[in-house]
Amino acid sequence: MDEPTAAKSTAADSTAFEPTASESTAAESTASDAAGSDPAGSDPAAEPIMAEAEAEAHVRELAELWLAPHERECLGCYLDRTITAFGCQGDLRLAARFRDLIAPRAVGLERRLADAGGYCDCEVLANVFQPAAHLWTLSRDEELPNGGWVDIEPEPPAVMPPCSGVRRGSTLPCSHWSTWR
Ligand SMILES: [Zn+2]
Ligand SMILES: [Zn+2]
Repeated sequence: MDEPTAAKSTAADSTAFEPTASESTAAESTASDAAGSDPAGSDPAAEPIMAEAEAEAHVRELAELWLAPHERECLGCYLDRTITAFGCQGDLRLAARFRDLIAPRAVGLERRLADAGGYCDCEVLANVFQPAAHLWTLSRDEELPNGGWVDIEPEPPAVMPPCSGVRRGSTLPCSHWSTWR
């Protein structure tokens, strides 16, 4: 007979869906409000919980927006933008996300990036793509107060210009980055 077994598993499932402690607390405080303890109808205990859940949903929504590659945005500018927003997680998850959404057939992307020294997202921008030469400051000699001269090394831009765009489906960087080495 299967019947008793099925009934038993249903009971176990319903136990798993019992309200959590925080949910039952919220339900109780709502009930006490309905009893008329607060004529204004605001529930100081329940409201922060709602606001928190809404804020979390909002943050997730924003994250999804930020993690979506822009129209014709290149991998370099995408990584620059998303690493600034979310930080490097020590892996190639941002590059992989770009690939999944933009160039799903580039299955070897992580291996190619790692071969070029990009073992995580921030290393891609440190070792694989570099701001193109035209964006760097010029090297120059500067006179010191004591009459000597100091060599000022070229510096990369503090902020990258907006992506100049690539063909859709490409994993190559745009003209603002030096190409694969
Ligand atoms: Zn990193
Ligand atoms: Zn770009």
